[in-house]
Amino acid sequence: MANINMSLQKNPMPTQTPKERASNFEEVALGYSEEVAINEAMRCLNCKNMPCVSSSPVKIHIPEFISKIKEGDFEAAYQIITKSSSLPAVCGRVCPQESQCESKCVRGVKGEPVGIGRLERFVADWHNTFCNEDPKPPKSNQHKVAIVGAGPSGLTCAGDLAKKGYDVTVYEALHTAGGVLVYGIPEFRLPKAIVKKEVETLEKLGVKLETNVVIGKTLTIDELFEMGFEAVFIGSGAGLPNFMGIPGESLKGVYSANEFLTRSNLMKAYVDAPSTPIMKGGNVAVVGGGNVAMDAARTALRLGADNVYIVYRRSMDEIPARKEEVEHAIEEGIDFRILTNPVEIIGYNNPDDKKDSKNGCVTALRCVKMELGEPDARGRRRPIEIPNSEFEIPVDTVIMSIGTSPNPLIKSTTEGLEVNKHGGIIVNEDGLTSRSAVYAGGDAVTGAATVISAMGAGKIAAQAIDEYLKNN
Ligand code: FAD
Ligand code: SF4
Repeated sequence: MANINMSLQKNPMPTQTPKERASNFEEVALGYSEEVAINEAMRCLNCKNMPCVSSSPVKIHIPEFISKIKEGDFEAAYQIITKSSSLPAVCGRVCPQESQCESKCVRGVKGEPVGIGRLERFVADWHNTFCNEDPKPPKSNQHKVAIVGAGPSGLTCAGDLAKKGYDVTVYEALHTAGGVLVYGIPEFRLPKAIVKKEVETLEKLGVKLETNVVIGKTLTIDELFEMGFEAVFIGSGAGLPNFMGIPGESLKGVYSANEFLTRSNLMKAYVDAPSTPIMKGGNVAVVGGGNVAMDAARTALRLGADNVYIVYRRSMDEIPARKEEVEHAIEEGIDFRILTNPVEIIGYNNPDDKKDSKNGCVTALRCVKMELGEPDARGRRRPIEIPNSEFEIPVDTVIMSIGTSPNPLIKSTTEGLEVNKHGGIIVNEDGLTSRSAVYAGGDAVTGAATVISAMGAGKIAAQAIDEYLKNN
């Protein structure tokens, strides 16, 4: 027992203070030091039945890598993690460990679970700082595979295939690789340099990256086969934003969260005199309660909003965003207007409502108060409108963050590719679609989900593509 730290709490993650960070885009969480990482690793009991591993979507050998941290052999810990996860510096930062590996940790029965995610991040950052050895591209097996989309699913599939000697080309619609990791998740949660480094590692393995290519427009899936590719993986995500269908959604000053975050993250709306100014001061309402809503709200705050409201129709108990993100948002001063549902966005181009606005046409969000009724099919209590409860929140910008769907472009240009009623591509357990040699995974299949599930799908498909091409 000498090597066990019986503290009931995780070592806290050092962070910038709420006041400091609310006005900059630098990373909020600063990471463990070597000493703190070893101390946290000492909390692991090295359980024989490893419940944490069974609830890790990519089955990382958790007690093994934590044992290496205890010994101070951080590179060995890194090598253990990368056998199962290709983006550990990313996952250590953004994966919802509280509902995955950490949810089954035995230390969580009485106290807090081991900080598995924080340790994963520490190990990946240590490796990226101290080990600069380039991976060696393996011997080519002469087979060509095309990947559509450079998000976590596509990059994982590409990396796994490249390691097996495949000639892999990734086609990406945007000018840069990373998917949501670069256009959606803000710099203060996931620095772009980390994603860039992961992409560069893949390029060193021999993966070719073709940006500004929209499959379905620039090239079709059928044309990829005509070009000599023997299999295709579609990892095109779920980037099509949903709207509520309420009056006023086409007013100037109304954004989808995806557009708002892309303009900030990729087009640098936060620099002085940006080429794409999205807002300047004023009040901002973000409609929705997921991680994306928290990211949009915290970005608006950093862009100089006077007040930022999260408008959410259920209560704090049902809010779907990660607990840590909600806590950070509250600490930074985001104002949560719960049990509140928008019914109209009001603007000064409404003839009867000529209020002025310094930032555009939106002047207010008309809402109704809600209460919670009986649980719905998913067990969440249903929000019910309270009659005659209408009120207005004066705002200059409204950001809709109520979910996204897969874009129908690839389906509409690929004969025989079947999708479900939500637009998700239908696949079997190996990621194979209804078209021969065409595989798919990640949000393009499941709808908006998580980084780790997208990576898991990329891994499964890479394995299946390897089997298919070896046997054909
Ligand atoms: P994506 O990451 O969406 O990548 C798809 C890529 O395909 C994109 O680069 C896109 O440009 C490209 N593409 C699309 N169509 C085409 C085409 N026709 N031709 C070529 N390229 C195309 N998950 C977490 O686990 N933790 C979090 O904290 C978290 N926060 C999030 C915050 C935000 C703001 C958002 C939007 C999502 C968040 N998620 C989070 C969800 C997570 O990022 C996604 O589930 C994950 O990125 C899905 O990976 P993917 O590879 O399937 O798709
Ligand atoms: Fe360590 Fe927790 Fe996993 Fe047990 S369940 S091996 S204590 S991380």
